[in-house]
Amino acid sequence: MDLKPKIREIMDFPKKGINFKDITTLLKDGQAFRASIKSMAELIRDRKPDLIVGPEARGFIVGAPLAYELGIGFVPARKSGKLPYKTIHAKYQLEYGNDVLEMHIDAINPGQKVIIVDDLLATGGTIFSTIELVKQLKGDILALAFLIELTYLNGREHLKEYDIYSVIRY
Ligand code: 5GP
Repeated sequence: MDLKPKIREIMDFPKKGINFKDITTLLKDGQAFRASIKSMAELIRDRKPDLIVGPEARGFIVGAPLAYELGIGFVPARKSGKLPYKTIHAKYQLEYGNDVLEMHIDAINPGQKVIIVDDLLATGGTIFSTIELVKQLKGDILALAFLIELTYLNGREHLKEYDIYSVIRY
């Protein structure tokens, strides 16, 4: 299934010069959403992860169904102040701002095999801080997986030591 036509491009959102990829148009199309998750699952299934980790908020939208499809657990990396138990944290930079991500201290057991996912790889800032959290808990990062990769922002350049999978590329 050709998924690109399902993604809406919004010029100058949330700032001038950013061509935002709006996935809500893909998500509301049941066949496209399912095909997206199935494609991500087929890219990573053979790596046999124990856990999927996804950052708030769109990392939940792709990460949870992906973990369900693979029959494995899902760990959320949340924005600060949202998680109820003891947490670890890592700062991150977005294409357009800063924030803090947190994870429960017992979210990952040392040595568990993790694949980190998000809807989109832009500069890599969000995923970099998610990597930091998984490293703090001594998870074994097998790979990173995205529904969309904006290759022109060179996120891969900052993430050279990791295997990176993506379904749709611009
Ligand atoms: P990065 O941290 O790689 O620069 O940006 C990726 C993060 O910002 C992801 O969590 C993603 O959800 C969000 N993001 C940045 N640009 C876009 C975009 O054009 N479309 C969507 N859907 N998310 C974006």
